[in-house]
Amino acid sequence: MTIPLLTLSHQQPFWKFRTHRVIANTTESTRNLCKSTLYLFLALATPFIAYRCFNSFTMFWSSSSSSSQPATKIDAGSLRRQRINSSKLYQPDASSKVPVIYSSYYDISFLGIEKLHPFDSSKWGRICRFLMSEGYLEKKSIVDPLEASREDLLVVHTEAYLNSLNNSVNVARITEVPPVAMLPNWLVQMKVLYPFRRQVGGTVLAAKLAMDRGWAINVGGGFHHCSGGRGGGFCAYADISLCIHFAFVRLNISRVMIIDLDAHQGNGHEMDFGNDERVYILDMYNPGIYPFDMTARNYINQKVEVVTGTATVDYLDQLDKALAVAGSNFAPELIVYNAGTDILDGDPLGGLKVSPEGVIKRDEKVFRFARDRKIPIVMVTSGGYMKTSARVIADSIINLSNEGLIETNVHSGRKIMI
Ligand SMILES: [Zn+2]
Repeated sequence: MTIPLLTLSHQQPFWKFRTHRVIANTTESTRNLCKSTLYLFLALATPFIAYRCFNSFTMFWSSSSSSSQPATKIDAGSLRRQRINSSKLYQPDASSKVPVIYSSYYDISFLGIEKLHPFDSSKWGRICRFLMSEGYLEKKSIVDPLEASREDLLVVHTEAYLNSLNNSVNVARITEVPPVAMLPNWLVQMKVLYPFRRQVGGTVLAAKLAMDRGWAINVGGGFHHCSGGRGGGFCAYADISLCIHFAFVRLNISRVMIIDLDAHQGNGHEMDFGNDERVYILDMYNPGIYPFDMTARNYINQKVEVVTGTATVDYLDQLDKALAVAGSNFAPELIVYNAGTDILDGDPLGGLKVSPEGVIKRDEKVFRFARDRKIPIVMVTSGGYMKTSARVIADSIINLSNEGLIETNVHSGRKIMI
């Protein structure tokens, strides 16, 4: 049965007219409500549908391209070399720039969700802004790295691990931000994983610049909890392992020292290089905090455990001794320095009590160690969970410049202090 909504006339009784009008208005409202609901559904569902289609397409593409490969199986070592040699990550031209690497894409910020994590997710940009505002760096002299592609990441990571990042729940576990689990993965890829991949590109490139110029600083990177097969502790990609494998193949070196002075144990690179005699690992960490990775601890060449509450003088004294031992144990061709600032007094996660001046002195000691031995050094900034970390890192870079441990550079007729 249908209701004759449009048959009203002025001859009809008033009460009847009103009833029909109410019915007409009610039906119109219902229609509008239905329309709005449909639009809302489409608005919410479209990204999911697009993402599903994209995934299906990429899965189809990867399966068809893998099935088109020759039947002869290429060994893992050759495949790794092939991937490294065909990578574009060494391409950015830095000949007229300072070997400080940063992209505005490093910084993570969306919908305020980054505020749910104690990590200052825009510290990388803040470091550069401090340096620029104080005349130690020009925007045009900063080296902008490329994003590490899937093929680049496969140099160290397994297919299974990279595929696991297509699930937002896994990314939420790795970044330790539970709400990330609720977000569609395309958004997580764009706003969280892309910035990380760009930072990975920066760490890989830093080794090349360090070999050319003696030193390089990636203002990001230092994801030392991630290994080829597993992420964790805010580390989704193993940038240090990737950097070193690229250096072995492209820079023709075979001895690398990792000096890991973040407050946490660097279990990612330790798992990746556990049985690799080309890599010497000096790790100075607090054994009473995350990650408690006892297997990885077996792979540290030189372990220095600094207990909770260790203060500046004691810390720097242990560092002096450790560097002396490392220098006599191993002669590297490249140093990768993981310079986490979570050793700072007051850091809620690091548990140590090193002052800002102590951090600056620490970085100076490591750069002096490299300079005295004429070993190229890569620095990555790694952990540092307080808003004050960016200021301390900027001050440390300024100190390295003032101490002559990183060279001045002439650019556009003006003397740049770094
Ligand atoms: Zn840390």
